[in-house]
Amino acid sequence: MRININLECTECGERNYLTNKNRRNNPDRLEKNKYCPRDRKVTLHREVKK
Ligand SMILES: [Zn+2]
Repeated sequence: MRININLECTECGERNYLTNKNRRNNPDRLEKNKYCPRDRKVTLHREVKK
């Protein structure tokens, strides 16, 4: 079972990425270093519910 999630920039709060994950494989909150166009640099993005 895969669920859709947003990845939100932890610095400016912008939701930059839409992705999905398998809840059974990744029960914890996803955190990824991704490029934020608003900050114009790589920042930590954290999973938020869609
Ligand atoms: Zn940002």
